[in-house]
Amino acid sequence: MNYKTTINTILHFLVHNGFLFTVSVMGLVHATLLMLSMVADVRPLVFFNILSVIVYLFCVLLCRADYIMPVYISILAEVTAYSVVSVYVIGWNSGSYNYLFSIVPIIIYFGCFLFKGTKRWLIVILLAMNFTLFVVMYLLFADATPVYILPRTMIQVMRIFSTFVMFFSIIFYNTIYIYSSEVERNTLEQANVQLTDDANRDTLTHLLNRRGFMPMIDRLMRHEKYTEFCIAFCDIDNFKRINDTCGHDCGDEVLRHIAKLITRELPDCSVCRWGGEEIVILMKDYDIETGREKMEEVRQIIESTPTVFFNKRVNKTLTIGLVEYNNSFRESEDLIRVADERMYYGKQHGKNIVVYKDSI
Ligand code: GH3
Ligand code: MG
Ligand code: MG
Repeated sequence: MNYKTTINTILHFLVHNGFLFTVSVMGLVHATLLMLSMVADVRPLVFFNILSVIVYLFCVLLCRADYIMPVYISILAEVTAYSVVSVYVIGWNSGSYNYLFSIVPIIIYFGCFLFKGTKRWLIVILLAMNFTLFVVMYLLFADATPVYILPRTMIQVMRIFSTFVMFFSIIFYNTIYIYSSEVERNTLEQANVQLTDDANRDTLTHLLNRRGFMPMIDRLMRHEKYTEFCIAFCDIDNFKRINDTCGHDCGDEVLRHIAKLITRELPDCSVCRWGGEEIVILMKDYDIETGREKMEEVRQIIESTPTVFFNKRVNKTLTIGLVEYNNSFRESEDLIRVADERMYYGKQHGKNIVVYKDSI
C-alpha cells in the first residue's frame, strides 16, 4: 500500500467513524485534563474530568449502538459545561473558553449530518448560543478572580492545550469534510460517465446505438476533413426465419453472438446496432479495398461460426453494403443511405455477400 492509499484508507475510516473517533478523542482530552488538574490540585476539575471521561466512555457504547443524536447532545452539553466551570474555577487566562470554539466544527459537521432541510436552522441557533455564551463568560469572568489561582506555568500549559484542541478540531473536521465531498464528487462523476455510456449503448448487444454512433461519423466529416474511412451496413439474412424456427430468445442470442464476433474481428472500428437485425460499422482509416477485404473476412467468419443455443447450432449469414467516404458526401445520413442501398442490392442478388460498388 503506498502513501496516498494509506492516507485515503485512514480518511475513509474517519469519515465513516466520525462520531466514534470524536468521542474517543474527547475522552483522551479529558484524561489529559484530569492529569493536569490532579497535578495542579484543582479538586472541582478533577471530579469534572472523571465525570467527562465516564460520559465519553458511555458515548463510545452509544456510537456502537448507533444512537447518534444522544452522542451529539452529550458532546455539546459536556464541552459547554466544562468550558464554563473551568473558566470559573481556574480563570479566563486558562483559555478554557477555547473549548467552546473547538465544538463549532462539530456543531456544523455532525449537525449537517443529523439535521436536514429546515431543521438546519437548529445549527444556526446552536452556533448563536455558543457565541453568546462566550460573550457572557467574557463579561462575567474576564476580570474576575478565579477560585483557584494556578502557577503561571500551569496556566500557560492549560492555555496552549486548549488552543491546540481548538486548532485540531478545526483542521480535522475541515479535512474530513473536504475528503468526503471529493469522494462524493468523484462517485457522481463516475456515475455520470456510466450513465452517458449506458444511454449511448444498446442493451441487448452492448453495441453503440445511433445516438452514440452518429456523432462519431459527424465528427470525422466535420473536423477531420481529409480523413479516410468506410461505412459498412450489415443485415442478417433471413433473420425472421431464425426467429420463427428457433424462437425469439435464440434470435437474441444470434444477435449477441454476431455483435461479439464483429467487435472481436474489428477492434479498431466503432460498431452500432442500427436497429432490429442491422449493424453499421465505422471503419476509420480504411480505404475501400482494405475495407472490402476486412468485411469479406467478417462475412466468412459469421458464415462459418454457428451460434450455439441450448445444444442447437444455428447458422447465419450477413449481407454487407460498403461505402468509402469522399468529399461529395455532405451528411452522415447520405453515407449510411448509400451503404444501405448497396446492402439492399446484395439482398436482391443472392444475399451473404459484400457489395462495395453500385452494381456487381
Ligand atoms: P432479409 O434477409 O431480407 O433481411 O430477411 P429478414 O428475415 O432478416 O428480414 P425481415 O425484415 O423480414 O425480418 C427481420 C426480423 O428481425 C423481424 C424481427 O422480428 C426480427 N428482429 C428485430 N429485432 C429483433 C430482436 O431484437 N430480437 C429478435 N430475436 N428478433 C428481432
Ligand atoms: Mg433488416
Ligand atoms: Mg435481415
